[in-house]
Amino acid sequence: MKSIKSVYKIGNGPSSSHTVGPYHAARTFGSRYPDADSYEVTLYGSLAFTGEGHGTGKAIREGLPGAKVLFDRKTSDLPHPNTMLFKAFKDGKEIAAVRIFSIGGGSIRIENEFSEEDRTVYQQKNFSEIVSLCDQENISILQLIYILEGYTLRDYLKTIWEAMKAAVERGLAAEGILPGGLGISRKAKTLYEKRCYNESADVTMNRIIAAYAYAVSEENAAENLVVTAPTCGSCGVLPSILYYMHKDRGFPEDEILDALAVAGLVGNVIRTNASISGAECGCQAEIGSACSMAAAAVAQLFGLNIDQVEYAAEIAMEHNLGLTCDPVNGLVQIPCIERNAVAAMRALSAVNLSRFLYATRKISFDEVVATMYRTGLDLNEKYRETAHGGLAQIYRESV
Ligand code: SF4
Repeated sequence: MKSIKSVYKIGNGPSSSHTVGPYHAARTFGSRYPDADSYEVTLYGSLAFTGEGHGTGKAIREGLPGAKVLFDRKTSDLPHPNTMLFKAFKDGKEIAAVRIFSIGGGSIRIENEFSEEDRTVYQQKNFSEIVSLCDQENISILQLIYILEGYTLRDYLKTIWEAMKAAVERGLAAEGILPGGLGISRKAKTLYEKRCYNESADVTMNRIIAAYAYAVSEENAAENLVVTAPTCGSCGVLPSILYYMHKDRGFPEDEILDALAVAGLVGNVIRTNASISGAECGCQAEIGSACSMAAAAVAQLFGLNIDQVEYAAEIAMEHNLGLTCDPVNGLVQIPCIERNAVAAMRALSAVNLSRFLYATRKISFDEVVATMYRTGLDLNEKYRETAHGGLAQIYRESV
């Protein structure tokens, strides 16, 4: 398996491949040629056809301020459907031209270059092998992660955590209508501030966690900066839980970073052995994966053992199996935003069950991941991010 860094990417919503990847590419190119006078970026293939509507141009300009963005819809002989050509100029001369591909999940590949992201960090292929190694070496899952990834992983996770916190806080403060034409108003602020009469502690906790999840998901829908966890569509689940545990429950940031590491490993196992793409396996691959990651993170925070961490992640995925991807009008709003909040609350329930019942379990995490993948491949295509089935279809028929 690769580094867990590949699970977490900072970029503009609402789409990992159309906004996060291009943002990441723009930042990478800009950091190589910081002395250039100007930049030009040409988008080809799918990125050109979806154009400004999907926010690709905005993402490029945020990653590379001042860049001129062109849309080439004619060139068809492309090495990858999501191709970008970056150019840098100085004193009126072209000093660099590099093709970069947005290959999905926010990941990029630079033409003719080996990417550090492709390096194998874990020889273990799945969660069972991770557990075996931990048992054999008598180390915790967290120790294993830092041994194999290096302790510098903490710096990366710190950056990720700062971006997650910023997204929660921006989303909580924002009001108004989300872009895209559905006329959906932001709800995070209201949810956060509106206490019900006679509200119990449990209801408050769920309302606050939901508010945080709405905040991040609404930021994603508004094409602002989020972190893939593991995707843009599911970016509200993990931050909402971690923000709640830090801000409302007092868990220190050091422990939050450890929880992010464990959640990242869970996401990595899913990505390696199945899929985190709604287009490939439906929403179970996005929201189900995020729910598993969040459950593992909370189990880690509460100091549960490796079997309990695994069982929490397994329960969280198991009860998202079969979840279809049916975004209304193709926007990442209905059912996506609400779904993030529900998954965050469900992650907590999974941890509560795993705490008590882990010794009785019959299904491993690897088995549920394999089940998710098979189920995803069996799903009718209209339930895999085409906006042709489910809620998307019913809504279209009703308007
Ligand atoms: S419904 Fe589809 S677009 Fe929305 S969060 Fe789920 S997988 Fe992503």
